[in-house]
Amino acid sequence: MPWKGEKNPYYIWLSEIILQQTRVEQGLPYFLRFKEKYPTVKHLANAKEDEVMRLWQGLGYYSRARNLHETAKNVQQNFKGKFPETFDELKKLKGVGDYTAAAISSFAFGEKKAVVDGNVIRVLARVFGIETGFDTTEGKKQFAALAQQLIDEKNPAAYNQAIMDFGGVVCSPKNPKCDECPFNKICVAKVKDLIAVLPYREKRTKITERYFNYLIIKSKKEIFIQKRTGNDIWKNLYELPLIETPKPLKKNIKEAIGKFLGTKNFSMVSGAKEISQMLSHRKIHFRFIEIELKNFDSFKLNNSKKIKLKALARLAFPKTIHLVLHENSLL
Ligand code: SF4
Repeated sequence: MPWKGEKNPYYIWLSEIILQQTRVEQGLPYFLRFKEKYPTVKHLANAKEDEVMRLWQGLGYYSRARNLHETAKNVQQNFKGKFPETFDELKKLKGVGDYTAAAISSFAFGEKKAVVDGNVIRVLARVFGIETGFDTTEGKKQFAALAQQLIDEKNPAAYNQAIMDFGGVVCSPKNPKCDECPFNKICVAKVKDLIAVLPYREKRTKITERYFNYLIIKSKKEIFIQKRTGNDIWKNLYELPLIETPKPLKKNIKEAIGKFLGTKNFSMVSGAKEISQMLSHRKIHFRFIEIELKNFDSFKLNNSKKIKLKALARLAFPKTIHLVLHENSLL
């Protein structure tokens, strides 16, 4: 991994933010692209938000991109472009939690601060047989305290890297390599046959379902789009005009569109494209309906604007919308 052994706090921070809730294979190309386009925190701080969101497009959890940009500006303006060096100071930065602050402070500045990520939790829960839910307040405290107790005082960075790698490579979630593991005689999970149930999660997240019906309203040269500004998923990304419904829009589609547009002066070109996407605890059901407006050139739509088709490529869209625009040769 290009961030292994990295001492530059900017690159460590960048990689950690990108890798939150993201698999390494997915995050790696994004890290390389960000590093190339914004080689220093100053470059990122001076970038336009639309450009940052565009580069982040497809990675999901977009609040990370907004926080990334805001924190870069903060570090540049208030810390003269230098990251704070301690765990406590780093935690004050937006989007930087315990894990990222510990990673930066130990890897870049050698602070004796243990990182606690999913890999670390798994190793500790199994070796020590901890049955407290890792997603509870008590569990979080317990894992953090144990990790801190175990840290190598002389080389905290190597210790942190080693335990994370150990969890990723040897003590993996499924089929851990217990036969080759140096702890296999003392590991409580191995000895008591608890590997399948540890680490233990207490709460189950309820999945909510949302129904997004998007309208593709375009001419040969222009298309209607809007920016998501509310405190909701995909804030500051662009999308097509949206009719969100509490249930699938099966019957009376034309009526619903007519009400949304405030006109009956349109025809439906197609409305069959349906896709679902899981977003942590939400399932989004997309429906893309292409319509033809008779008076496209003079038509105005609340909260939406017409832009040139060739300008679409400069804007950031949620992954599924980007895919559909691409399939329709609009991107
Ligand atoms: S013995 Fe198996 S479960 Fe226990 S720490 Fe080693 S790899 Fe993980």
